[in-house]
Amino acid sequence: MGYARVRALGLVGLEGHCVTVEAHVAPGLPALTLSGLPDASLHEARDRVRAAVVNADEEWPNRRITVNLLPADLPKHGSGFDLAIAVVVLGAAGRLNLRAVGGTALVGELGLDGQIRPVRGVLPMVLAAARAGVRRIIVPADNVTEAGLVPGIQVHGAERLSQVIEFARAGIPLPAPPTVDSFEEGDDLDLADVVGQERGRFALEIAAAGAHHLALFGPPGAGKTMLAQRLPSILPPLDDAAALEVTAVHSIAGTLPPVPCLIRRAPFQAPHHTATAPALVGGGTGLARPGALSLAHRGVLFLDEAPEFRPHVLNALRQPLEDGWVTLARSQGTTRYPAEVQLVLAANPCPCGVSNDIACTCSPPVRRRYLGRLSGPLLDRIDLQVTLAPVSAAALTGELDDQVCSEQVLKRVMAARAAAAERWTGRAFTVNGRASGTLLRLPPFRLPAATTSELARRVDRGTLSARGYDRVLRIAWTIVDLQGRTLPTKDDIDEALQLRTGESP
Ligand SMILES: [Zn+2]
Repeated sequence: MGYARVRALGLVGLEGHCVTVEAHVAPGLPALTLSGLPDASLHEARDRVRAAVVNADEEWPNRRITVNLLPADLPKHGSGFDLAIAVVVLGAAGRLNLRAVGGTALVGELGLDGQIRPVRGVLPMVLAAARAGVRRIIVPADNVTEAGLVPGIQVHGAERLSQVIEFARAGIPLPAPPTVDSFEEGDDLDLADVVGQERGRFALEIAAAGAHHLALFGPPGAGKTMLAQRLPSILPPLDDAAALEVTAVHSIAGTLPPVPCLIRRAPFQAPHHTATAPALVGGGTGLARPGALSLAHRGVLFLDEAPEFRPHVLNALRQPLEDGWVTLARSQGTTRYPAEVQLVLAANPCPCGVSNDIACTCSPPVRRRYLGRLSGPLLDRIDLQVTLAPVSAAALTGELDDQVCSEQVLKRVMAARAAAAERWTGRAFTVNGRASGTLLRLPPFRLPAATTSELARRVDRGTLSARGYDRVLRIAWTIVDLQGRTLPTKDDIDEALQLRTGESP
């Protein structure tokens, strides 16, 4: 009887893929068979598509219809294939000439009434379509602004199935995305708001300049959270590629604002300590949702009251922190989401959480056990470990005029990152926080023995681990980059050691 095919788009993790939807209509008992490894929601598509077609005032072909999604081995999730299935069925039944939608990819979920509903992950789908040379894409009207963020492809939005049919049949144009302000609303958090805490602000600046993970210890009210929240304000803005990548993750999670724009500012995620492992690293049925770890990709993951997180939840962070990826095991294979984050931990010195030692009722073993929950492999991955003192009354009442604002610090951070990037030219990383210990311990970056003698002494005495040694070297290089010098001195090593061990200067 009839055969037709159209293009659709699917997602596997963060990767969009072109999918061909083909339909064959033959005489026989009325039926609609879907094949091509569809998951449960695709089977539900059968009823939705039929109802939507009828409610778009089109006649449903009462014949034997076979719909196939290719490539067969690609896992397909979700409801975004509905629109393509409806159009291809009408095409195969000879009720719609599909020439007008040749070279066009169709994405959208159908409501029973023929409405086209928004879907998650439109941005990475459109990116994939543009890369594959697709000229035009039709998406749900509610996703059209988001789809329009991708350059080099013609984007149209449709509210109803009938609009797409009229477009194919009579060339009635579909709306293009509105031009949006690429202006992203900031949160106005500035380092100048942080009272006192010279030490904390210094550590934060080093963390930003070298992309080092950071742990902040100190009593409640010492400003740990305030500092952490201001780290994005001193991180370089995301370039085009990074902005698209980060926005794509938020598109899949469904966390973009109603009027989406490219995310240019380093993201900040602060999951609560009751968060489950799936909330933190990602999960869920069907198309797995990215967790806080991936939503913080190329930004900051802040774990406040870190010892309160459940141990298996903290453990789930270890591998992704090492790899820069979260790998989620699914029934149809594995899904990967990016997770290059800068980790910031904050912890009170003890579980009672009072702000001074005199009022604290915790016994020494209780205090040890509390922070012990963080120790081991997680804390070992964190370069900077700083203990903050309570803010003094003098600092609280002091003048704020001489406080350094985020903009000034960001300038220094950018200069330091440029210096580091030049030193690491030709390597897989550009920031000191990613430099391996072997690289820093061997020529040409090996420091004179006189410079590192204190470190060697501590390693011999067993008070500094081999990993700790490497981390001190990394921090020292970042101090040097921030100050515009070329080689760490003994003083830089001493300073780095204090920032590593939490010792007071
Ligand atoms: Zn206590």
